[in-house]
Amino acid sequence: MRVFKFGGASVKDADSVKNVVRIIRKHHGNTPLVLVISAMGKTTNALEQLCSLFMEGKREEMLQIFEQIKVMHLLIADGLFEKKSDPVFNILEQSFYQLYYYISEAPGKNYNYEYDRIVSTGEIVSTQIVSAYLRKSGLSNRLFPAQKLIITDAHFRDAQVDWIVSSRAIQEQLIPFLKQKHDPERPPLVVTQGFLGGTPQGFTTTLGREGSDYTAAIIAYALQAKEVVIWKDVPGLLNADPKFFDNTLLLNNISYQEAIELAYYGATVIHPKTLKPLLSKNIPLKVKSFYKPELPGSLINENVDIDKLTPSYIFKFKQVLASIFPKDFSFIAEQNLARIFADFAKHNVKINLMQSSALSFSVCFDMDRIKTPALLRDLQKNFNVKHNTDMELITVRHYEKAGIENLLKGREVLLEQKSRTTLQMVVKSA
Ligand code: ASP
Ligand code: MG
Repeated sequence: MRVFKFGGASVKDADSVKNVVRIIRKHHGNTPLVLVISAMGKTTNALEQLCSLFMEGKREEMLQIFEQIKVMHLLIADGLFEKKSDPVFNILEQSFYQLYYYISEAPGKNYNYEYDRIVSTGEIVSTQIVSAYLRKSGLSNRLFPAQKLIITDAHFRDAQVDWIVSSRAIQEQLIPFLKQKHDPERPPLVVTQGFLGGTPQGFTTTLGREGSDYTAAIIAYALQAKEVVIWKDVPGLLNADPKFFDNTLLLNNISYQEAIELAYYGATVIHPKTLKPLLSKNIPLKVKSFYKPELPGSLINENVDIDKLTPSYIFKFKQVLASIFPKDFSFIAEQNLARIFADFAKHNVKINLMQSSALSFSVCFDMDRIKTPALLRDLQKNFNVKHNTDMELITVRHYEKAGIENLLKGREVLLEQKSRTTLQMVVKSA
């Protein structure tokens, strides 16, 4: 059994969906397959906007966005199904009507609850289209709602997975289907939504932005899959973002540990939560290009031998660098650190880098329009705080001197931290 995950870019229009079906036909192999699909193109962003307008009571603007989203999906369906009598059109009408009906009522107070209810529509309609088109192309399949497979708590918008209950739900629902007697040419095919979960009471939740990779890992874990393939618009894992580097290198094979480190420091190709479940069951993860499916892409598995060969560069922008000084004559010691960390925990701000000296504690974290000012206000109750915004945090794994000198041209380093494997620098563009 294998799990394939296709993200938004791989299903952004009718031609892309056709390409997905070609890939499945060719790379399906003879094993049963679970397909995890994201919302089409930038649909999640559009639905987020719709949700904000819903909460603000801006009905007209909201309905405009609703229409845009609906038309985009119907156009994609038009490009895939010649017959307007195809049942998929009815199914889509129903899904959009459900959303329309929902947003015609007044919003509740819980933003995150409303968000999950509304934003989940993206994955629901995209899987309806893909499942129907697979069937039309001769690939029979069954669509399983992820809300019944991925069981979570009610922490809407960032739901935590109940591993035991989810594993059982996945096994009970999918194994009988995947293990049914089949024509070896046509192994069973499951389609489900990435990113979505459900509480035991049946409320829809989401796992955090870009969470579909994580869904693929949860299902692979529960079914002890042979492998997971994430199909992307890049050739695989690269050692730097091609937006900032001319000569990037493909990481052919890296270990789970290395991939976890890269994701943790901000490499965006794989969702950071994806790897640990796969590591725990030793399930290999491939990252492959949906443009060039015949290329091998990157393989992440237990092989640690080649990790050190290629330096990787990770950039995080819009960073805040804060230096925190006790107001009295005390040093930065446990008491003060406990207070500082309590403020970060209270505002749910993740620290990307920290460094302490006798007189001050420096911290680098992501800028957030709402959280940052609130955090700084709380810190200032007990400390003097100086801060700079618009900093960059550069992380280099397996760093080499020459590469770094090049990187720092035109940049001023404000803070630096080094371990044997990792160099981190907070820099200001000059
Ligand atoms: N559609 C969701 C998002 O864009 C989940 C995903 O793509 O992984 O964040
Ligand atoms: Mg997406």
